[in-house]
Order: sequence, then C-alpha cells, then structure tokens
Amino acid sequence: MDFALSEEERAVRDTVRAFVTREVLPLEQEVLRRERAHQPGLDRSELRELQLKAKKFGFWGLATPEEYGGMDLPAVLQSLIWTELGRTFVPFRFGGEADNILFHASEEQKREFLVPTIEGERISCFAITEPGAGSDAANIKLRARRDGDDWVLDGEKTFITNGNDADFAIVVAVTDPEKGARNGGATAFLVDRAMGWRSEFIQTMGEGGPASLIFDGVRVPHRNILGEIGQGFTLGMEWIGKGRYTIPSHAIGIAERALQMAIDHANTRETFGAKIGTNQAIQWMIADSETELEAARWLVLKSAWTVDQGLDPRHASSMGKLYGAGMVNRVVDRVLQIHGGMGYTRELPIERWYRQVRLYRIFEGTDEMQRLIISRDLLRGYTKIGGHLA
Ligand SMILES: Cc1cc2nc3c(=O)[nH]c(=O)nc-3n(C[C@H](O)[C@H](O)[C@H](O)COP(=O)(O)OP(=O)(O)OC[C@H]3O[C@@H](n4cnc5c(N)ncnc54)[C@H](O)[C@@H]3O)c2cc1C
Repeated sequence: MDFALSEEERAVRDTVRAFVTREVLPLEQEVLRRERAHQPGLDRSELRELQLKAKKFGFWGLATPEEYGGMDLPAVLQSLIWTELGRTFVPFRFGGEADNILFHASEEQKREFLVPTIEGERISCFAITEPGAGSDAANIKLRARRDGDDWVLDGEKTFITNGNDADFAIVVAVTDPEKGARNGGATAFLVDRAMGWRSEFIQTMGEGGPASLIFDGVRVPHRNILGEIGQGFTLGMEWIGKGRYTIPSHAIGIAERALQMAIDHANTRETFGAKIGTNQAIQWMIADSETELEAARWLVLKSAWTVDQGLDPRHASSMGKLYGAGMVNRVVDRVLQIHGGMGYTRELPIERWYRQVRLYRIFEGTDEMQRLIISRDLLRGYTKIGGHLA
C-alpha cells in the first residue's frame, strides 16, 4: 500500500501552493477589510485578472477537457488543488471552468453557453432547490409547459449560488407532473436572464449570498433544453455529485491553515507565566484536530480516487462530505477557542471561517442526506462494509 503522492501530484500541489503564496495570500488583509465594510472580498474584474495570471502559471480549467483548452485533471489532483485553495480565505478559484453538466449541451448550445462560460465571459448558476424542495429535490414544482416552439416557466427557485450575478441559469423544471421528477418528469433548461427571470439577494451568515430566482411566465425556446426531455433530475444529481469531493477537499485546506494558526498561537500566548500550549486542555484540542483532519484527508482522497477508477463514487463521496464538513466545523471551533477573545474578533479570519464552514454541512446534500445515502447503501446490500477492500 502506498500513501505517498506521485511526483506529478507533488509537483502540481507545490506549484499551486507557490501561486497562492505569491499572488493570493498578499490580498488577505484587503479582503478582510472590505468584508468588514460589507463589500465583496474580490470584485469580478479582480478575480478575472487573478485567473488570467494563474493561466500563465499553467492553471486553467482543472476539470475542463483539453479540446476546450482545459487541463482535464484526474479527480485526485483536483482534490489536492482544492485543498491548496482552502488554505486562503480569499474567494479565489481557477478560471476556465464550467458546470459539469453543460458538457451535455448540443453543439449550438456549447457555442452559446459552454464556451463563453469557460472563457469567463458569461456567468452561470444552477437551480434545482425551491422553497418547498431542498433535500427532497424530487418534490420540485417549478413548472414548464409547452407552448408551440417554446416552453413557459412559472415558479420559484431559492438559495441559488451566483443567482444575482448569473447571465443565465440552468433550471430544472417539471415537464411531466404525472411521471414525477425522479422518473423522467423533469427537464433542464438553459435560461438567459434576458428571457425575463429576476433574482432577489438572500442575506446569510456567510460572506456574499445566494439568490431566489423568480419565473413568471418566462418563455424559453425548445432548443434551450439541456440534454433530453425528462433528463433533468439525473443531470441535477450529476451536478451535485461533483461538489461531494471538492467541498470537503476545500474544508481540509481551511482546517490545515486554521490549525497551524492555533499551534502558532499556543506556542506564543502566555497565561499564568507559561505558554498556553503547555496545558493539556489545549494540547488535546490540537491532537483531536490533527487526527480528524488526517482521517478526513484520506476519506476525501479515497472518494476522488474512486472517481478516477471509474467506480461508483457516491458512497465514498457521501462519507467524505459528511466527515469533512463536520471535521472543519469542529476544528475551526477549537481554533477559535484556542485564540480566546481574539478568535471572536474580525481582526482575524477565524470567525469568518466559523460562519463560512457552517454551510458545508448544509449545501449540496445536508449531513442527514449523506447519512441517509450511506446507511441506505449498506441496508440494501449495495455496498459492503469496507468498500473496495471488502
Ligand atoms: C448558501 C447556499 C447556497 C446554495 N446553493 C445552491 C445552488 O447553487 N443551487 C441549488 O439548487 N441549491 C443550492 N442550495 C440549496 C441547498 O442545496 C439546500 O439548502 C439543501 O439541500 C437543504 O435543503 P433545505 O434548505 O430545503 O432543507 P430541508 O430539505 O428542508 O431540510 C431541513 C432539515 O431537515 C433535514 N431532513 C430533511 N429530510 C430529512 C430526512 N428524510 N431525514 C432526516 N433529516 C432530514 C435536513 O437534513 C435539514 O437538517 C444552497 C443553499 C445555501 C444555504
């Protein structure tokens, strides 16, 4: 058994680390300052400028096929890169990406939606959640009715990331209520903002925020169906599947950085004439954090590896998402505790992480939904205890 990174994996990881250290970390104080003033940490043009710098460094389209100018990296490498990006709270991500399901587009749709999204000229959002359907995504009600060469969309989506900035939305709508979303009754549509939907910003405990999207008789041409009629729910689940290993990969980077801050603080802060790191209470928080971080690392890398092996990644990914999201919440909470009052201030990024990572237990499948998947697989005998080693 070999737990080492390959030479290529190490080289890519180190290059990303060098880029983040040189180009992104120096922006942190300014990002904190802006966010304290309720402004975005990075605006769209600054993000784009950084992405173009990264492109020169060789990083563009981590998951994008080479024919579209991307790197088409294996999932393990992508996971390692997301971990590196997690080590800074600057809201940076590499450019050259598009939603995985946009690759199901027709040639004409690819020219209109996919390519401009990869190039950063257009912003997309993906919308399945509704006020009455989150975990139970098959219960969506936003209706699409056929009318000649068009479909007419009525209803509301909610909690849509990028919903305020997006130029177009990938919307999963009910096209055949009798069948039900899970059984071919839902279809995905590519809907330009100019077709008439509007968005409303939702305040959250995190920086930035998602949006509600309101569809009131929005006419969408038939040619804007993504994939096949009836394929909407399957595409939705494919979109969500991608985040199941990138979210906990990011969480690992946050936990690594935060834990290092706690170790540094424990080695310098003195109370009662001694460094606080000499207290067992502090040592145990550090030990538990490192142990859980390491456990999450291998669960998440294993789930990415499962993707690369062409195996069904859902069981492993659910375990990685469940454990990784919980781990980062516990670690950041301990790191905040170790910093005492300073941890609670907005001088440091810790309270920011504390708010940010709470989301990781909710979006793209709550903790409870991950537990449901893991236990269901075992109860039905679809997966054996011990996975591929069983
Ligand atoms: C910041 C943010 C960004 C988001 N981005 C997007 C996006 O881009 N696109 C998109 O479509 N959606 C997005 N979402 C929606 C997100 O995926 C949902 O919020 C999530 O799936 C939970 O759905 P819900 O909020 O309706 O909670 P509910 O489904 O109402 O669940 C409420 C609680 O009940 C629990 N629960 C529900 N059913 C069961 C059960 N059977 N057994 C045990 N417990 C259960 C849940 O785990 C949860 O704890 C985003 C959400 C947020 C907060």
